[in-house]
Amino acid sequence: MPATIGTLATVREVTELRRAVAAWHRAGQVVALVPTMGALHSGHRALIARARELADRVVATIFVNPTQFGPSEDFSRYPRNEAADAAQLAAAQCDLLYAPATAEMYPPGFATTVSAGPLAEVLCGRFRPGHFAGVATVVTKLLLQAGADLACFGEKDYQQLQIIRRVVRDLDIPVRIEGVPTVREADGLALSSRNAYLSPEERAIAPALHRVLTEVAARVASGAPADETASAGAAAVNAAGFTKLDYLEIRDAESLAPPAAGRPARVFAAAWLGKTRLIDNEPLLPPHGQGTAQAGGKA
Ligand code: AMP
Repeated sequence: MPATIGTLATVREVTELRRAVAAWHRAGQVVALVPTMGALHSGHRALIARARELADRVVATIFVNPTQFGPSEDFSRYPRNEAADAAQLAAAQCDLLYAPATAEMYPPGFATTVSAGPLAEVLCGRFRPGHFAGVATVVTKLLLQAGADLACFGEKDYQQLQIIRRVVRDLDIPVRIEGVPTVREADGLALSSRNAYLSPEERAIAPALHRVLTEVAARVASGAPADETASAGAAAVNAAGFTKLDYLEIRDAESLAPPAAGRPARVFAAAWLGKTRLIDNEPLLPPHGQGTAQAGGKA
């Protein structure tokens, strides 16, 4: 029997997780999985809500995956509050929480990893070596552990979403991947567990990232040249007060390759405010390629 945190049934071992999902499947129910690292906010709640729409049962996972953090990244200070997360999940009508210990995910001798391929080498992959291999490996494990029918991931982490789609396709993992639009604050800032790190001054600057991405997307979609507009966007992010811009680039929405005429594209950025790295992305609507000059893609 699963233990409970508050009113939410909670399991910490793969065997218990599989037992619960198998029982629902025997009853003919559709099961959705929502993987998270906890510190839940309304972005995560949107994933749970979408999962509820699509499935009879919703399993959320909370696991702060050490292998997707670089040595100088924020693994140790990443916000953790399982009791508050469990209360949110229960209120969102999640059926089960799977919160494994690190040793359950990575027992002694663990050696196999999933390489995320070329999709992992661009954008954030250039700045976070090993990050997407960590993500691809842990998500593959979570998908295989749960055996759910579908799994929901946010477009906020769009590169991650595309990598997961590719891994699932390439490795024939029998699950449907559902992308969920980014949930934002009223001023446009994408919700993120890392927003909690921002000082009031940094928080005031942060919405500029989305503002610039929206402007770049609109201009390129209406025919402005991609390269120049991305460069102007990069300058605007720096001028807004960000400490450092890792990238601002327009890329194909599926392959993440440089954009091509007639194909859907998105604009992506990662920028630092002090010690906090923010990422965001926006689609180019109408579909990229209907305008005039469409050369290149990298800022
Ligand atoms: P995390 O806990 O940051 O690993 O995120 C868990 C899931 O929530 C991922 O699929 C994220 O893409 C998604 N997510 C995080 N922030 C948002 C947001 N603002 N809107 C929609 N989904 C989000």
